[in-house]
Amino acid sequence: MSGTFVGMPAFPTPAYPAFPEAAHEAVNNPTLRGNLRHATHTIRGKRAKAVAEVSDWAELREAGKQIKDHTLRHLDRYLVQVEESVTAAGGVVHWAADADEANRIVTRLVQETGESEVVKVKSMATQEIGLNEALEAEGIRAYETDLAELIVQLGKDRPSHILVPAIHRNRGEIRDIFAREMSEWGRPAPEGLTDTPAELAEAARLHLREKFLRAKVGVSGANFMVAETGTLVVVESEGNGRMCLTLPETLISVVGIEKIVPTWRDLEVFLQTLPRSSTAERMNPYTSMWTGTTDGDGPRTFHLVLLDNGRTDTLADEVGRQALRCIRCSACLNVCPVYERAGGHAYGSVYPGPIGAILSPQLRGTASEIDASLPYASSLCGACYEVCPVAIDIPEVLVHLRERVVQGGPVTRDGNKVVLRPAKGHAAERAAMRAARWAFARPGALRAGQRLASRTRRFHPRTLPGPGAAWSATRDLPAVPAEPFRDWWRRTRGENGENGDRGAAK
Ligand code: SF4
Repeated sequence: MSGTFVGMPAFPTPAYPAFPEAAHEAVNNPTLRGNLRHATHTIRGKRAKAVAEVSDWAELREAGKQIKDHTLRHLDRYLVQVEESVTAAGGVVHWAADADEANRIVTRLVQETGESEVVKVKSMATQEIGLNEALEAEGIRAYETDLAELIVQLGKDRPSHILVPAIHRNRGEIRDIFAREMSEWGRPAPEGLTDTPAELAEAARLHLREKFLRAKVGVSGANFMVAETGTLVVVESEGNGRMCLTLPETLISVVGIEKIVPTWRDLEVFLQTLPRSSTAERMNPYTSMWTGTTDGDGPRTFHLVLLDNGRTDTLADEVGRQALRCIRCSACLNVCPVYERAGGHAYGSVYPGPIGAILSPQLRGTASEIDASLPYASSLCGACYEVCPVAIDIPEVLVHLRERVVQGGPVTRDGNKVVLRPAKGHAAERAAMRAARWAFARPGALRAGQRLASRTRRFHPRTLPGPGAAWSATRDLPAVPAEPFRDWWRRTRGENGENGDRGAAK
């Protein structure tokens, strides 16, 4: 973390260590692991109940997948439709190829209003581009208004969960943060603040209320954009989003280009699956929708910044593009055994957990230590795929990205085809795979090798030497059997498998 932190960490931070080192502290912190375990198990249990109530969940899941895939296949057309619809409704559309361009656009738009502060709705896209830092550099202060994001911002901390960014904080810590920091940012915490949820919520409400009433500029993201009407949709639970989206005179929304759904009918599917998958609610408490501007109702000026920042590069990858279906429900985090132990900070981006492990290396590339290590931050158990409401096969993408890291190969970066070199540090793995390919293509050699391994098994080491030592330090090497399977088969079933009792398992 930089010492000049002002809000959310910028996404393209190259200085994070590889995942195993980054996770080291969390894995050795029993309190943090206990908090994470309790929180993720509670949320996952509630989600399972909320999903089980819906008799056609499997169909909804498939429909969500199909809608997203269709939209991504025709993204060029739908983006143009969004631009036309938003413009016709009185909004102004801006296109941002990357984080720098998006930050420049938003900064200029705020400067043109003459304001020096903005209120923000929780938005992954603005965290991804490091908008708060970019605004601060130009003398504009951004106030996070979601309760958990407020805790993170006041605590000069980093979010560690998509839905519950302060999941790593307990109530005592939150009380201390409020008591210590609120006065630096506006209305101080009440005297004698305790750590009861009601008092903490009231302190946050009072602190934020004056900002809502004063701010002339609001900044948001959006969960969805409906192409046919140019309507943006924000779903939230606290009402802070509704305040940010309606009270300011100017509203600026930064939205990833993959957030489009073609029609309202399509939106209906996700308004059923998102709340149940994320907060385990049948319906989220606040669903705000706006279409351009309306005289006498809400902001007088509306700007939509359409953000690419690696998304079209991701779209070019036939296997990896399914990550763009993500609706940020966070269900995959709550079932992930790796996330539960490592926590969210180890993933080095605003996208932690399984979705972060496949999204960050695609949006940012695999050049940095952290991004090259993220595809390995998984046991490939498949729980993330099972719960994903848009059926993203995260294990499939993880394996695909591992292959890219180890083997290199063609990818699209900044719209250009480039060929990645194999990452350093995987030479032993590549050599082992080459040897396996050679042996499996030669049955005679494979048989001889298996017999040799069986006969010499008493001399085999219990741990691997060299780069394999880390692997065998926490695992038992499987014992080599006294007799290879093929020899056992031939001995017990005969050369053509005729001696065995094939009917036994009826
Ligand atoms: S990958 Fe699927 S489960 Fe994970 S956050 Fe995205 S939509 Fe939710």
